[in-house]
Amino acid sequence: MEQTLIRKLVSADEEYLRDESKKVGNAESISFPETHEQVCEIMTELYKTGTPVTVQGSRTGLAAAAVPFGGHILNLSRMDKVLGMRSEDGRFYITVQPGVILQKLNKSIAARSFSMDAWDEESQETYKAFCRAGSLMFTPDPTESTASIGGMVACNASGARSYHYGATRGHIEALRGVLANGETISLSRGQIFAKGLELSLPTEQGSTINVKLPTYKMPECKNASGYYCHEDMDAIDLLIGSDGTLAILTEIEISLLPVPALTWGITCFFPTQSEAVAYTKLTKNISQGIAAIEYFDDCALDILRKQKAENTAFSGLPFLPKEYGCAVYTELHCDGEEQAYALLETLSGNCAQAGGNPDMTWVATSDSDRDVLHFFRHAVPESVNMQVERSKRNYPEITKVGGDLAVPDDSFETLMNLYDATLEKEGLQHAAWGHIGDNHIHVNILPRDMDEYSRGKALLAGWAAEVSRMGGAVSAEHGVGKLKAPFLEVMYGEDHIREMAALKATFDPKCMLGRGNLFAPQQEVER
Ligand SMILES: Cc1cc2nc3c(=O)[nH]c(=O)nc-3n(C[C@H](O)[C@H](O)[C@H](O)COP(=O)(O)OP(=O)(O)OC[C@H]3O[C@@H](n4cnc5c(N)ncnc54)[C@H](O)[C@@H]3O)c2cc1C
Repeated sequence: MEQTLIRKLVSADEEYLRDESKKVGNAESISFPETHEQVCEIMTELYKTGTPVTVQGSRTGLAAAAVPFGGHILNLSRMDKVLGMRSEDGRFYITVQPGVILQKLNKSIAARSFSMDAWDEESQETYKAFCRAGSLMFTPDPTESTASIGGMVACNASGARSYHYGATRGHIEALRGVLANGETISLSRGQIFAKGLELSLPTEQGSTINVKLPTYKMPECKNASGYYCHEDMDAIDLLIGSDGTLAILTEIEISLLPVPALTWGITCFFPTQSEAVAYTKLTKNISQGIAAIEYFDDCALDILRKQKAENTAFSGLPFLPKEYGCAVYTELHCDGEEQAYALLETLSGNCAQAGGNPDMTWVATSDSDRDVLHFFRHAVPESVNMQVERSKRNYPEITKVGGDLAVPDDSFETLMNLYDATLEKEGLQHAAWGHIGDNHIHVNILPRDMDEYSRGKALLAGWAAEVSRMGGAVSAEHGVGKLKAPFLEVMYGEDHIREMAALKATFDPKCMLGRGNLFAPQQEVER
């Protein structure tokens, strides 16, 4: 093993001990591989000693999944190459290394500009056809566009547009991964299926992993909680959303879709949450052209007003009059202006019927208008994270206290009422925003001291328990990581956690990968 691949952690590496959850971990060594082969080499070496390994993409995760619990940090940020492309039945597929950043990939796809020196002949030929084709896009759009593609696949990330296009899972066609012992697997969609709940996975080295899938039923709503499992499932789906616990993803093939002819963003404002919920219900009845429905509560809008007034970095935010109580952003993906204007009229009617004032509506029709709205949407979680960081200066144990809970349609209003009632009772500072079209709102508590932090965490645990009773998901898009591991047990129960731990052990018998993610480390060892 070359000295350069695994090295001791030094104080300058401190940043690699944390992610955007603000939790801080510890580790003894770190590596920055650049190729699949280097990852194999590193894992073969670490397997000898059973050293715990935490995989890192961009560390934008909010559940502390990339925060190391001892051992080695495998940071994939230098695996940032686009490896090639192919086309089949008129569709285009691009293969990337896991450290490729979403934002950069999207720019390359839009500009049709790639560094192709190492591409094979098929890719070079496909590129010519790609340049002749209409505009294409990779649809998953987490608000944090500096996420890596590997991290997005590991968390099954989603974003505003997942309302229409679904989460990352549906846009992944093939994966290559390295197991804890350095062996490798390659999976293409549609090739290997479970028989009932039994799955046999061949490694590239000729051995077989015999997996017994857990027996739980996954919630019927947006979900990124624990392993994705069901009878007769496609094997590739097990690795998607596995939170860095089963394999290190080293090559990822994504699929592209056509860019819609016209994209408009409509932001309607409402006096209170109940009108916003009523508007959403009406808008969800529209069968075509609605790509996203996103919510911002009154506290989130207040945070933006304050940022605009006090922080020059946020001066580009649009002016928000005080009477604009809370907001719902609806994105339209249309085949032309006729459809867009018809939808705009319907939305205006929905807004009035729900109790909003259609005159207080922003309509973004150009790229630059939509950029402002994207800035607006990103500024909310970013500002909340800044506030958590400020509290952390006085109370270092403070981490982000944010919900990522989703429920089936019939429970959504009950959940929103529960949030309201319990937040009012506790009197904690908070802000809520997110994917209202998917019954998935991020309610964040903003603790100013340790008492508020403890009460906020207790509130979140109570909501997770209620959501589990409603048949919902304790994590709908950020992944369970370390912060939400206790909720996963509440959601699925001890027996099913034991089944998940047994599944993990068939891939990773020494419990090296992603220690502390999904299960508490002690539970993993005991099971
Ligand atoms: C302001 C803000 C807004 C956000 N908005 C959204 C949103 O709208 N939707 C959403 O889904 N998320 C959102 N997130 C969370 C985060 O961006 C996503 O979870 C993202 O997918 C994490 O990617 P990453 O590269 O940063 O992964 P990391 O944080 O580095 O890692 C996350 C997990 O993936 C694993 N992992 C990373 N790479 C690999 C790999 N190659 N192989 C195996 N495991 C791997 C890690 O071990 C860890 O378990 C937001 C975060 C912030 C800070």
